[in-house]
Amino acid sequence: MIIKKNNQFAVECQTKEASDCPQQGEFCDSEDEARDWVEYECWLYSGEGWICIQCNEYFMANIKSIRKSKGS
Ligand SMILES: [Zn+2]
Repeated sequence: MIIKKNNQFAVECQTKEASDCPQQGEFCDSEDEARDWVEYECWLYSGEGWICIQCNEYFMANIKSIRKSKGS
């Protein structure tokens, strides 16, 4: 879930489902800083990895539309 590039670290979005998904967080000097960054940005920890806000919203919208279609 952590991408390493040129001695910099970024947290990768676990799902990348949303069309506007940023794919990864900002590159930082350490894994801890990269994790702090996504926490600060309110990414959601799923237990296995981090999900960005855009994907989180995408899933929430999907859950709602599924519930709606079942109810009608
Ligand atoms: Zn995402």
